[in-house]
Amino acid sequence: MSVLHVVLLDQLSHKISSLKNCDKKNDIILLCELNEEFTYVKHHKKKIVLLISAMRHFSVELKNNGYNVEYVSLEDKKNTGGLRTEIERALKNYKSKKVVITHPAEYRILDCLNKLRKDLSVQIDIIEDDRFLCSIEFFNNWSDGRENLRMEYFYRELRKKYSVLMEGEQPIGGKWNYDASNRKPPKEGLDIPEKYTSKPDKITQEVIELVEKKYSLHFGDLEPFHFAVDRKGALKALQEFITKKLYLFGDYQDAMLEGEAWMYHSHISFYLNCGLLLPMECIQKAEQSYHEDKSPLNAVEGFIRQILGWREYIRGIYWLKMPDYEKSNFFNAKRKLPSFYWNSKTEMNCLRNCVKETKENAYAHHIQRLMVLGNFALLAGIDPKDVNEWFLIVYADAYQWVELPNVTGMILFADGGYLASKPYASGGAYINKMSNYCKNCKYKVTEKNGSEACPFNYLYWNFLAENRQKLSSNHRLRMMYSSYDKMDSEKKKNIQKDSLNFLNSLS
Ligand code: FAD
Ligand code: SF4
Repeated sequence: MSVLHVVLLDQLSHKISSLKNCDKKNDIILLCELNEEFTYVKHHKKKIVLLISAMRHFSVELKNNGYNVEYVSLEDKKNTGGLRTEIERALKNYKSKKVVITHPAEYRILDCLNKLRKDLSVQIDIIEDDRFLCSIEFFNNWSDGRENLRMEYFYRELRKKYSVLMEGEQPIGGKWNYDASNRKPPKEGLDIPEKYTSKPDKITQEVIELVEKKYSLHFGDLEPFHFAVDRKGALKALQEFITKKLYLFGDYQDAMLEGEAWMYHSHISFYLNCGLLLPMECIQKAEQSYHEDKSPLNAVEGFIRQILGWREYIRGIYWLKMPDYEKSNFFNAKRKLPSFYWNSKTEMNCLRNCVKETKENAYAHHIQRLMVLGNFALLAGIDPKDVNEWFLIVYADAYQWVELPNVTGMILFADGGYLASKPYASGGAYINKMSNYCKNCKYKVTEKNGSEACPFNYLYWNFLAENRQKLSSNHRLRMMYSSYDKMDSEKKKNIQKDSLNFLNSLS
């Protein structure tokens, strides 16, 4: 009797736990292009191309390695388009009684598998996903009984556990965190190295045509398509980052420049999240670059913190808080998502650029997501459901396990402060400091009120005033409320009036 090893579209790693005991002679690996996965939200076209092409390349590699692969393509007439029905079909075809699958990254898939397990008389073994460096159980134990789940303490535990950037029990250099030396504003004339690009091969070209035909109404530009689609390409992309950009990653981690979508970031989230790269190999390559004196400690520690700290922590929060986390709406925000999030038609230059680049690239870096697109959604009181859906649609690295805590917890504070200690709200001054967007904007970042003033400025104070009841006990906001209280009533009235006018103009 053959065992059915199911590999999901974000599990494209040769070392995936579900394949560890696969009997090449008798067992079957099931890989399916599921319409359901590409349409439960209408994902960016580039993301769909990346995943289908990566699956097709992965299947070829598995076959070359001697595995029996049942590959179900989108065009296959028998393809039912859903995970449950495809597993049922394969079980019947191969007369299998057992399914082995690595723990899915998302709750909705686990739910589907649990239902299947209940309804059918087959054994379904769900094996831990050991690509993550912190198991769900470890995170639950770590969080148990803690009042404060701040990422920094979690990150230190993992540094010690994996002996990353450590000298015995102490962090290399004597400090855990080098953020104080990071996050410089962008300098004029920065010579930013070109991003990694890969030329589409025949498989990818066919997938581009397929996606154009089948998903033409989805958001985003399909071409130029330059992502890596196999392990070899993803390793090359990682290596290019390590040699060309890592040394300045820390310095310009938060910087934004008009026309420079990629900056000094690594652009590996697409590959990490679908399995073409493994987190530990990215961490080790960065650490090696430090030990070889090719990159400074502030850059290497900053980069490693993103992967070993933030990425693992976010996943831990997701599994700890699902399924209720999806419904969080601390501020009871109800506004619909403005149409400029789709068509970039806004006079706010920062938002216009970030949406335009998102549409072109299926990518925006962290600060664009957090301090421009996210900050606006928070200040404008946009419904978390709409914001979550948008972030899940538009980025090639978007999967609910990582998108939801970043949106609900980090940008919208919709979980009431479970993930962040205060809302990441800010006026235009931060964007002006960290970018050159304000130079070409119709609004004046130095103006606080009136028709020419930067909307972030009055929306910021309006947000604090409107949510005072829920936020005033937060000690990190005490100074802000005390500044607000010192404003005269005329100014407060203007803040409210400008905000109302602006927000009404959105609909
Ligand atoms: P770099 O800046 O080079 O960082 C290196 C790696 O660190 C990333 O590839 C990523 O794997 C990891 N990382 C960094 N920050 C985070 C974080 N906050 N959470 C998890 N991992 C992190 N990341 C996703 O992978 N998928 C998402 O759907 C996603 N949605 C986001 C939504 C919002 C509102 C915000 C504020 C952040 C979101 N992030 C998401 C986190 C982060 O913005 C992206 O991981 C990063 O921009 C990817 O680009 P990069 O590979 O160049 O990252
Ligand atoms: Fe954005 Fe305000 Fe600057 Fe315009 S002035 S780019 S709206 S921060």
